[in-house]
Amino acid sequence: MPLAQTSPAEIWFVCGSQHLYGPGPLRQVATHARAVARGLAKSPLLPLPVVFKALLTTPEEITRVMVAANSSPRCAGLILWMHTFSPAKMWIRGLDALQKPFLHLHTQFNRDLPWGTIDMDFMNLNQAAHGDREAGYLHSRLRLGRKVVVGHWSDPEVHARIGAWMRAVRGWHDWQGARFVRFGDNMRQVAVTEGDKVAAELKLGFSVNTHGVGDLVARVDAVAPAALTALCAEYEQLYRVAPALRRGGPRHEALRYSARLELGLRAFLEAGGYKGFTDTFEDLHGLRQLPGLATQRLMAAGYGFGGEGDWKTAALVRAMKVMGDGLPGGTSFMEDYTYHLSPQGHQVLGAHMLEICPSIAADRPAVEIHPLGIGGKEDPVRLVFAAPAGEALNASLIDLGHRFRLVVNEVRAVPPPPLPKLPVARAVWECKPDFKTACAAWIHAGGAHHTGYSYAVTTEMLDDFATLAGLEAVLIRDGTTLPALRQDLRTNEVYYHLAQGFRT
Ligand code: MN
Repeated sequence: MPLAQTSPAEIWFVCGSQHLYGPGPLRQVATHARAVARGLAKSPLLPLPVVFKALLTTPEEITRVMVAANSSPRCAGLILWMHTFSPAKMWIRGLDALQKPFLHLHTQFNRDLPWGTIDMDFMNLNQAAHGDREAGYLHSRLRLGRKVVVGHWSDPEVHARIGAWMRAVRGWHDWQGARFVRFGDNMRQVAVTEGDKVAAELKLGFSVNTHGVGDLVARVDAVAPAALTALCAEYEQLYRVAPALRRGGPRHEALRYSARLELGLRAFLEAGGYKGFTDTFEDLHGLRQLPGLATQRLMAAGYGFGGEGDWKTAALVRAMKVMGDGLPGGTSFMEDYTYHLSPQGHQVLGAHMLEICPSIAADRPAVEIHPLGIGGKEDPVRLVFAAPAGEALNASLIDLGHRFRLVVNEVRAVPPPPLPKLPVARAVWECKPDFKTACAAWIHAGGAHHTGYSYAVTTEMLDDFATLAGLEAVLIRDGTTLPALRQDLRTNEVYYHLAQGFRT
């Protein structure tokens, strides 16, 4: 099923050349460029359609296409390739105006050189080797964040690099104009869930606005009883529902109320065009339960979520869901909850009070009801499951006051041991490069306790995402050392203050 609230996106393939070579070679260049675009479009590793847009040979054409890319709601990004030499001063105005992300594909139409027959005509037609260098100089001179992918356009490794970038582009495209809603404010006194929502909308493209929880209560109360019956039946089909919660069971009413929360929340999100939401257990006036099952299922449908008013994590979880869409493995809101500090290996037990997305469930989840120690509401219904073993990562978006920072830690998830007394969804993982380095690095970087946790999204996608978003990325993984990371943090502090001033 497609993620909730997605809009169509495509990538424009643009080839650069000039009129030096005459009409014959230019026709050949155009034919080649179309063939490359078609070849890429056929790759199963590329999640977005590739559309051949133009062969560009003059400053006027270039500027026109870049401005058209800006104003096209479908164009999520561009792939640029200089088949021949395209003097880069022609590109200054166009690239300066361009507001969409671009990837510079450094490829060549011919894979192999025809050593026995090569002549100067061939040499003049296949000049990306220096044409793309001329382009790269200008991209660097303009301080443009971009991805550079090198290799023949038929190479699956090249497709994988472009595919990761496209996934980042898809997440970015989804953020532009996206709306997130908060029911209530941040949890009182918590620092890391705060942030500048004006700066977020200006730099990252999404808006965050608040509704009093009473507006949600009105939607929840308006749900028709027949819809509750149908949804509860669906729960019994999909999950292992505890006998007491089943139809006819003594606590079935709590399941029906949970279904009411789901349908009310969904109606609210759909009516407002929201791509994610936050709530807080400190502000649930008029709701009988903290939404558990409801939030879990909405996350599985593609909505972003952050607990305790954490709108940055809600937006990040949404972007990660869009990036990972269609890949094996899910993405969830997560919290580093508690540690296993055995000499045999240090591990993190990740969970939340309730709200972990079943897209990361290893097996069919159980639906259970248990008391919640905080919040003072009725016992909430929740999905209980374990996340699978496998390669995964945690990502956190924080506000440093004058910029946002994306912190990423690669982890290796392991199967959780039986946890008979812990009635929440959970994951257990080991951090890379090792627990002590990773946790110290995360803490030096200021990463939050809330994260987006994913088996589908890779560090490469998030790094590409940071590049095109102009975000600082701090990557913690194999090879990370604390002294180098701490120096990077100090250097970045200076860089991000000064970088805007370099571009003149
Ligand atoms: Mn939390």
